[in-house]
Amino acid sequence: MTTFVDRVELHVAAGNGGHGCASVHREKFKPLGGPDGGNGGRGGDVTLVVDPQVTTLIDYHHHPHRKATNGKPGAGGHRTGAEGTDLILSVPDGTVVLDKQGNVLADLVGNGTTYVAAAGGRGGLGNAALASARRKAPGFALLGEPGDDADIVLELKSVADVALVGYPSAGKSSLISVLSAAKPKIADYPFTTLIPNLGVVTAGETTYTMADVPGLIPGASQGRGLGLEFLRHVERCSVLVHVLDCATLESDRDPITDLDVIEDELKQYGGLEDRPRVVALNKIDVPDGQDLADLVRAGLEERGYQVFEVSAVAHKGLRELSFALARIVAEARAAKPVDEATRIVLRPKAVDDAGFSVVYDEAEDLYRVTGSKPERWVKQTDFNNDEAVGYLADRLNRLGIEDALMKQGAREGDTVVIGATENAVVFDWEPSMAAGAEMLGRRGEDHRFEAPRDAVSRRRERERMRADSASEEFDAFDPMRRNAIESDEDY
Ligand code: GDP
Ligand code: MG
Repeated sequence: MTTFVDRVELHVAAGNGGHGCASVHREKFKPLGGPDGGNGGRGGDVTLVVDPQVTTLIDYHHHPHRKATNGKPGAGGHRTGAEGTDLILSVPDGTVVLDKQGNVLADLVGNGTTYVAAAGGRGGLGNAALASARRKAPGFALLGEPGDDADIVLELKSVADVALVGYPSAGKSSLISVLSAAKPKIADYPFTTLIPNLGVVTAGETTYTMADVPGLIPGASQGRGLGLEFLRHVERCSVLVHVLDCATLESDRDPITDLDVIEDELKQYGGLEDRPRVVALNKIDVPDGQDLADLVRAGLEERGYQVFEVSAVAHKGLRELSFALARIVAEARAAKPVDEATRIVLRPKAVDDAGFSVVYDEAEDLYRVTGSKPERWVKQTDFNNDEAVGYLADRLNRLGIEDALMKQGAREGDTVVIGATENAVVFDWEPSMAAGAEMLGRRGEDHRFEAPRDAVSRRRERERMRADSASEEFDAFDPMRRNAIESDEDY
């Protein structure tokens, strides 16, 4: 099978966050110097950026696996681990990003347009950042979060203003070469001799690009020939030009039948119905060609086509054609919203950081907790460290997960799963697990051990806890950093 370089599968992996460090400052005569473990560095993102210098996806065809670097772990003495380096992948203007199911994730048009294909993992907090008035010397740190990985497909849809369609040898390539001043190459097709041409045409005030669709033949929509692969290049065009051969020697062909056949293929491909069309009757330098053009002209005009008689070889009728196309292109541009967003940054998914859900799964007899925070917090937890597990329980409780489980009817010993995927974490629910954590971190603060209180004092306590975690635990962070942390609930 022929492989096209204007469609590549790419496997991208962002860097993992570095682990936080648990360390205690030691100094002569000051045995309890306090926690000084630094935070891990953020893992690098994998980012696609439109670069005008890049015209093909061929690099990705040769090297389809791309990974950004990991963040470094934090260290004692409040040393923060270095951030991973973002991996910037340059792509041509008009690159479409799809998932493996074919859903469009992003449409990258305009120089500098950026898409974060895989986000780096957050670094884990060190024990210095986790310390608070109540938890003066945490004996644990948070793990770095693994970076995203993703399988994506890149497709190149060149942004040609004018598309030339027609039978092979109708003269499409010849027309582009005589109409255009410059001929940038739009793509390398190492496995085929068919190369779509792109030309830059200037007519009066207007400059536009023109591409042809080689290999469009009857049956292309059923997979014959390669024309459909190339139609992708012209999906964004503002006008289609039917190049009709007036000098063909094949007995079963004439300009009108040719046009019908090509229109039928375009219809099968779909999506180009709304584009205006003009007709170029080519090869009128040949005597029979001029006669045939005279013969079919009226019929084509009756169908509503603007008709041009041209000769690529004798340079006839070219000026009229190129100015007419310039007018259509200029109108289409004027109709488009101004300043087509350049330098926009697209993110893969809207981050739903709001909450969580608890659902009882009857078939499996378990309670499933999902939500970006609880799932992330689980990944940050070192399950070999009881204090770290207690801290996790504490956070989950503060988010309201214990309450939600209780409301759903969960009892001690029931199975609770956090996460939706296969590598979710399974717990036997012990409401006392959280209480145990409270004992470690917040001795005497667990309101569940005390007499029932009214809602107001409960809320006050919650607010106090929040203010506490915001002001004392996380002051050390520079808010300008991407990983800036407002409270550990957001982290
Ligand atoms: P394409 O397959 O549509 O790109 O067609 P080409 O541009 O490669 O042209 C096919 C053949 O037709 C070549 O031999 C050209 O020289 C010839 N040709 C193209 N335009 C004209 C024209 O206006 N007059 C004549 N006589 N021949 C032409
Ligand atoms: Mg050609």
